[in-house]
Amino acid sequence: MQPATLIAQFPLLADLIALKETTWFNPATTSLAEGLPYVGLTAQDVADAHDRLARFAPYLAQAFPETAAQGGIIESDVVAIPAMQRRLTQEYQQPIFGELLLKKDSHLPISGSIKARGGIYEVLAHAEKLALAAGLIAITDDYSRLLTPECQQFFSQYSIAVGSTGNLGLSIGIISARLGFRVTVHMSADARAWKKAKLRRHGVTVVEYAEDYGVAVEQGRKAAEADANCFFIDDENSRTLFLGYAVAGERLKEQFAMQGRVVDANHPLFVYLPCGVGGGPGGVAFGLKLAFGDHVHCLFAEPTHSPCMLLGVYTGLHDGIAVQELGIDNVTAADGLAVGRASGFVGRAMQRLLDGVYTVDDQRLYNMLGWLAQEEAIKLEPSALAGMAGPQRVCASADYRKLQGLSEVQLNHATHLVWATGGGMVPDEEMAQYLAKGC
Ligand SMILES: *Cc1c(COP(=O)(O)O)cnc(C)c1O
Repeated sequence: MQPATLIAQFPLLADLIALKETTWFNPATTSLAEGLPYVGLTAQDVADAHDRLARFAPYLAQAFPETAAQGGIIESDVVAIPAMQRRLTQEYQQPIFGELLLKKDSHLPISGSIKARGGIYEVLAHAEKLALAAGLIAITDDYSRLLTPECQQFFSQYSIAVGSTGNLGLSIGIISARLGFRVTVHMSADARAWKKAKLRRHGVTVVEYAEDYGVAVEQGRKAAEADANCFFIDDENSRTLFLGYAVAGERLKEQFAMQGRVVDANHPLFVYLPCGVGGGPGGVAFGLKLAFGDHVHCLFAEPTHSPCMLLGVYTGLHDGIAVQELGIDNVTAADGLAVGRASGFVGRAMQRLLDGVYTVDDQRLYNMLGWLAQEEAIKLEPSALAGMAGPQRVCASADYRKLQGLSEVQLNHATHLVWATGGGMVPDEEMAQYLAKGC
């Protein structure tokens, strides 16, 4: 379809093309019961992923001592950020009704981003399959056996490949190399130099491209096809990655229970998830829906220069269109979100379970990055701030309240959870540059 025809049919596209910050509230959300069949995955699939991670916990606790305190479970804290809530209210003259919380996936062990969920999970699932088939382990064994030279030798016959803007490559590279796999990460032009250097120190082969994420993934896919012993991790389509992220839902429910936080009809939960290709936010949102049912409302956040999921879901074209086809350049400071074409799998799976998608300007990401550092002493990478613009979009919109049938009373008792997706391992010099760009 010609851009002009598309714009006539979908008026919000004019704002996307003009790179204006845009909020799209989904008119087609349904209940979990109605939406679930379209996902094609079930609560049992998520429970299986949970169990698999539990089997690997003894291995992870030994292989990565930083996970030992949590028994080899890779999980992050959830914290209240009242000073940031006041700061945002004051800066933008828009109150945030209810309480503002931060989910610190930015500080997940091993790789310091949300990719320590899905990326690591998919490598573990692959390793388990190979090791079980070869009779190296049984499902009831203590998986710390996988640290033996014999097992490492076994895995070294196999290789793993992935295309990434940085954080997925970091997660998959580190865990794959530790298990003994040969691993190649195909990095897009957006990937930060320190991430590539860190991977090389871990013995990972890094291939660099001057093009964006889509090209890096395609090249990775091709290289892997040439080698029967190579497993390609497909960020655009993988159900396994998605399930690794989805485990977060039940875990958050447990954390809330421990903190005495209630989520029910009168205490709705709003969750704001930065979105690149969609697997991370999609998987987490799926897990949250299973855990909290219709009381959780999920919104995705994208940079104004890379609104691929908004474009795909809003037009219903999904992976049939890329932002570049509308003249949008996919160049953003939010390198983790620099994706021009969304996952068709995630868009189709989640389009009924998503309350909306909105875009954020790069300068706003830098400003909020600085305020969060000042007010709460929490440092994130630019991508991870995309969620932070969401609560005020929701609180400002009477239309959204009407669409969702939410009263002002309910909104006053809301919890707003911003999913901080990365930044815990950014080197100090790089962080100083980010901080200098805020105002
Ligand atoms: C990858 C990433 C995301 C989004 O995940 P997708 O699966 O690409 O949608 C968000 N924030 C950061 C920091 C990331 O690295």
